[in-house]
Amino acid sequence: MTILPIRLFPDPILRKKSKEIDNIDLEILEFSNNMLETMQYAKGIGLAAPQVGRLVRLITIQVPECEPLIMFNPYVNKKLGKRMIPEGCLSVPGFTGIVERSISISATYIDKNKGKIQLSATELLSQAIEHEIDHLNGIMYLDHLESHEKLHKTGITPDDIHWHDVAYKVSINKDNATKMDLETEGIIERKIELSKIKSDGSIEEASFDV
Ligand SMILES: [Zn+2]
Repeated sequence: MTILPIRLFPDPILRKKSKEIDNIDLEILEFSNNMLETMQYAKGIGLAAPQVGRLVRLITIQVPECEPLIMFNPYVNKKLGKRMIPEGCLSVPGFTGIVERSISISATYIDKNKGKIQLSATELLSQAIEHEIDHLNGIMYLDHLESHEKLHKTGITPDDIHWHDVAYKVSINKDNATKMDLETEGIIERKIELSKIKSDGSIEEASFDV
């Protein structure tokens, strides 16, 4: 087992789209176990492969009191309802934001035994799956914020991490872009001025980073 280094925003790899996994071989299984261990070590409840530097469609999730999940090629088939909830991310340590997520989803993925699994999820599990699949498409929870005011310092930022204004933009190759890709581009062309974000004790600290 190996603890993998977690890439931090604004590392450009977090903005790239991950590829489908054609073959679940021993190497990728070992990598998925390392991801699980890295996620647990970092006290996160979810981790996506790009966060540890590899652009493949693989996520790990473990919500409290549930078995850990390793999901190859996951996708959401159905989303129901909307809710606003606090969210954090292992790649954006020390911040939490209020984002819109579904109330429930159903998802499909391949498990480590190469079985195709259908899963219905609500609450934290649903939120974590949506968050991690976003990572596979180069989307971060910051993109779902309605405004900077919806992002808050949690007060646990390590002193050695220096935050500054970050302008970021994703370019999508429009030759093969789907309508969704173009909408995504519209969403993620924005500037986050992290230095303007103030701590706000009135916001309940997000207990989980995903
Ligand atoms: Zn994340």
